[in-house]
Amino acid sequence: MKAARFYGAKDIRVEEIDPPGEPGPGEVLIAPSWCGICGTDLHEYIAGPIVTPAHPHPLTAARLPQVLGHEYSGTVVAVGPDVTHVKEGDRIAGMPLISCMHCYHCVRGDQHLCQTMACTGLSYQWGALADLAMVPGYQLSVLPDDLTMQQGALLEPAAVAVYAVERGRVHAGDTVLIAGLGPIGALAAMAARALGAGQVLAVEPNENRASRAGHFGVDQVLAADDGLTESILKLT
Ligand SMILES: [Zn+2]
Ligand SMILES: [Zn+2]
Repeated sequence: MKAARFYGAKDIRVEEIDPPGEPGPGEVLIAPSWCGICGTDLHEYIAGPIVTPAHPHPLTAARLPQVLGHEYSGTVVAVGPDVTHVKEGDRIAGMPLISCMHCYHCVRGDQHLCQTMACTGLSYQWGALADLAMVPGYQLSVLPDDLTMQQGALLEPAAVAVYAVERGRVHAGDTVLIAGLGPIGALAAMAARALGAGQVLAVEPNENRASRAGHFGVDQVLAADDGLTESILKLT
């Protein structure tokens, strides 16, 4: 099968590799359909290896070259013997983290803080920029019929943005300032809007991104200069 593999800074190769075998317990074989390119992927490309494993990863034993791709949607091809929440043919999207499930944080339910955390497409044997990927079944959610596969691939970055807005304790009627309207900032603006924010402001020096701000529910883009505090005070 074809896969995009990261070897080192400025060295990503699309090449033929052996496909995964049959899924074992807890595993699901998927055929990715859409996959985002994350800021983390860009950092790896420019200056990696950073989180991709130059030495065997302590949890997954994965090491370079790394199949990339962790913001994915796709179709279930086969499931392991004990997997019941998804079945062959299901349209799915993935949460890419892999956790040990027995360290201090995992036992408390904070698997995203796992001390040996790994990630599909960054520090695991498989990634979604490939014809097939084997993933832990717990990563997968079935997509509702009214979401497209393309939207499904945005589930992971959207979850990051929604979590940030929740942690920011945004309430109905609040004024929210989004610093930077990259993909996560744009999704955070939409999440704040959906939560009932009264006014959504943003700072974004890139004109192209700023020009799309209204599309994401931003009321006003402010200049990132010395007058920023004053501009905010005037509007609040
Ligand atoms: Zn990412
Ligand atoms: Zn853990």
